[in-house]
Amino acid sequence: MIQVSLSRLLYIYLLVFLAAVFCAWICYEWRRKRREKFSLRHRLRCVICALEFEDRTETLLPRCPRCGSLNERDRLRII
Ligand SMILES: [Zn+2]
Repeated sequence: MIQVSLSRLLYIYLLVFLAAVFCAWICYEWRRKRREKFSLRHRLRCVICALEFEDRTETLLPRCPRCGSLNERDRLRII
């Protein structure tokens, strides 16, 4: 039988608990960023009038619905 002192047992328990919380946090952040990236995939911002619009076509330079200027497909980021 393995003999472990109470303080060492508490230390091991705390370490395992913190590792589980850290892993859950990392998984949650990874899933959140993935969801956010997926939701902004077709979202564009016009460089001229700053209108945010959604374009689901695969055109290289989508046209802004408000001012009609052509925009590049840059990734839209949330601040
Ligand atoms: Zn525009």
